[in-house]
Amino acid sequence: MRAVVYHGARDLRVEEMPDPEPGAGELLLRVHAAGVCGTDAAEWQHGPSIYAFPGPHPITGHRGPLIPGHELSGRVVARGSGVLGFDDGTLVACGAGYVTDPNEDLARVKPNMAKSYATVGLQRNGGLAHYVAVPADCCLDVGPFGLNGDAAALLSRWRSRCIRFIAAARSRENRRS
Ligand SMILES: [Zn+2]
Repeated sequence: MRAVVYHGARDLRVEEMPDPEPGAGELLLRVHAAGVCGTDAAEWQHGPSIYAFPGPHPITGHRGPLIPGHELSGRVVARGSGVLGFDDGTLVACGAGYVTDPNEDLARVKPNMAKSYATVGLQRNGGLAHYVAVPADCCLDVGPFGLNGDAAALLSRWRSRCIRFIAAARSRENRRS
């Protein structure tokens, strides 16, 4: 597959990379869209500071050049073991952040403060590529919300807040009709 690959400050390259394979609990997505945010711009300008480059990263084990992209949407093309649902073709928004130890105290209440927190596209390969493997736990099927792939990519980073907002708006609408 083709991917954007970070090799250090001011050194992004479009390269051929092996297709990723989904691990246990992960989805393989064919990327629809991936955003570039201020974090990526800063990493390009004077990084690496957050990217797991050159690694190895203590949580994800990532080492070497990194594929950025932590605001992404895509369609499911394969699943690793233990994944429930997420049929082929399901359009998902990927929230990108996840915890590797769900039993950690902060994992449920404030996952981004947990010791085992990591982010796709920052601490492991992300969505600026044709394909990306992502934990199913940080993906949301956006079909029920009527979103297209572009909207899903924009939503992904604010996934939980937006979904709550949309769900609340829908229930208000339902009460009116
Ligand atoms: Zn960001």
